[in-house]
Amino acid sequence: MTTQTVTLTGLRVAYGSGLRRVTALDGVTTGFAGGTFTAVMGPSGSGKSTLLHCAAGLDRPTEGTVTVDGVRLDQLGEDELTRLRRDRIGFVFQAFNLISTLTAAQNVELPLRLAGRRPEPRDVTAALAAVGLADRARHRPGELSGGEQQRVAIARALITRPAVLFADEPTGALDSAASRQVLRLLRGLVDEHGQTVVMVTHDPTAAANADRILLLADGRLADELTGPLTAASVAARVADATPELSC
Ligand code: ADP
Ligand code: MG
Repeated sequence: MTTQTVTLTGLRVAYGSGLRRVTALDGVTTGFAGGTFTAVMGPSGSGKSTLLHCAAGLDRPTEGTVTVDGVRLDQLGEDELTRLRRDRIGFVFQAFNLISTLTAAQNVELPLRLAGRRPEPRDVTAALAAVGLADRARHRPGELSGGEQQRVAIARALITRPAVLFADEPTGALDSAASRQVLRLLRGLVDEHGQTVVMVTHDPTAAANADRILLLADGRLADELTGPLTAASVAARVADATPELSC
């Protein structure tokens, strides 16, 4: 049996109450095996971000459990959860979320500083080199392209060597050339370093880089695809699973 780095069991998330109650996740059970690349797809509002936020300990589910690296998140207090999130979980957002007044290197070392650890310059240099930006260490985000900023965000997410990297539409704000570079980087992290990666995307071409695709519809798992994946085969399966969107 492959080791699951992340397991989600019976996840339910409800927001609001009464007439305004929304069920964002409606009983999702799945897992992400170590050293694999999973894409999460589905229509807007199907619960993709909610799933990622719960799996990453950014939100607590209404029901169900999340286990990361052998630790059940619901059994942690807020401080322990914050520490686990900081040390064992990487998260990359569509909007990069870099600090504009800090250089690329300072952004990358920030998670270590927040954890009270002294960043080794060698490690920061290696993290920037791993995303192809060794020569941009002293640049501020405003002096970098969108694709370069996202690669700095990925280096920042990886500096603590997390058990899992989550990315919510990481190529959503990038042009196709920059997207390809980011996807190649994520694929390489899995293939060369055994990193576990879970990525939300709308784009069948992006999702085809994954080993496995989960399709969400109305907060439930509607389908699951495994390789070999091509952009065309992914697009066709997405259209089958969510026919209301393909007309
Ligand atoms: P996706 O990422 O697939 O577009 P989300 O996970 O963001 O979907 O949202 C799933 C559903 O939950 C949507 O109907 C959304 O409006 C609702 N939702 C998400 N976050 C909140 C929130 N903080 N409060 C109320 N409803 C929310
Ligand atoms: Mg979303």
